[in-house]
Amino acid sequence: MTLAELFRHPDRFIGCIAIGRVARRRPGERLRVGRHEALLDEADCAAFDGLAETLLYRPGDTFSIVAQGFDYPSLARCPALADDGRCAIHLKGKPLTCEVVPLDPLVPDHLQHLVLAERGDSAVYAGSACIQEGTRDDLALLVDEGRIADLHAQHALARRRRALEEERSIWTQAVFDALRAELFDSPAALARIPPGGFLTISLVPALLSVAAASARCRALCIDYIDSQLALIERCIAQALTRRRLDDRPVTQQLRGFANAYRHAKARLFDAGTLEKDHGEPAARPDIEAYLSSAVQ
Ligand code: SF4
Repeated sequence: MTLAELFRHPDRFIGCIAIGRVARRRPGERLRVGRHEALLDEADCAAFDGLAETLLYRPGDTFSIVAQGFDYPSLARCPALADDGRCAIHLKGKPLTCEVVPLDPLVPDHLQHLVLAERGDSAVYAGSACIQEGTRDDLALLVDEGRIADLHAQHALARRRRALEEERSIWTQAVFDALRAELFDSPAALARIPPGGFLTISLVPALLSVAAASARCRALCIDYIDSQLALIERCIAQALTRRRLDDRPVTQQLRGFANAYRHAKARLFDAGTLEKDHGEPAARPDIEAYLSSAVQ
């Protein structure tokens, strides 16, 4: 998700930052999924690198930094999935990433068939038969001969990539810089992120970064924190009634998020008090417009 999408649904999704380790592709590398295979050449790797340069971070290895909804895996469902099986926010700010699924914005278009093959084989999609090879009269063709054949998917992919670029200018670059010393330059800390896996941390570094843009941004962040604290409390209360052992680590992490939010809220209040005496800092109108449009 984007940070703006989290702000649009502060009572539905628990926000966090997901920091992922992304494999760097090399010429001569063979990508094989089932009977599909690609031997990467210089052009393929240049295409991966082109996406990584604008969407990812490369302090050595390659990392993604994105906002994400966080929930109990034991629930095995998105918080926006209604009981009738439909998306409750389909017409009210459905995240762009949902329109992109099952494609992957970090993979060049001409290799998206491998993404589909891999997802079609994965446990999450097993039995759903929602990714199929060949053409069907009742369904649009998604990829064909190394191109995205479906126009809607093509546009969604392009918009998602643009959104990820915008996230970089609004907050992910700032978070990367803030975490550089303690995470990205520390081999011991980076060892916590497995290959192809994620580290999820509190959304607070992102909030502190955008809150510094203006007094209005700070107020929006405080409102967001209040909603999140209430949501986390509700989610933990429900988990306690479920009494599942595998929920415990998640509850612990949520309590950590709540603590981080409380500290951040106190810092934001202090910053507001200081500014009353010393005037407003230089505003970042682009960040203010970004957050304001999210809560309209
Ligand atoms: S489309 Fe599905 S995953 Fe996306 S918000 Fe709606 S219910 Fe959740």
